[in-house]
Amino acid sequence: MAERKKCEYCEQDAIGIQSLGSCVSLVCQNHADSSLLALKPGEKLAYEYCYLERFDTADR
Ligand SMILES: [Zn+2]
Repeated sequence: MAERKKCEYCEQDAIGIQSLGSCVSLVCQNHADSSLLALKPGEKLAYEYCYLERFDTADR
């Protein structure tokens, strides 16, 4: 069974991970960066010091 991850800032389910430098955060739809919201479920994006991953759970 897939583990439900919670947003770090509220009690909602997290939709993805945001990593900026050494700071990694689980975020929900309300707290996600716009660039994370632009990703499709399951998609990942990596910059030099920035990593975004959107969980593949939205439509299940
Ligand atoms: Zn939140």
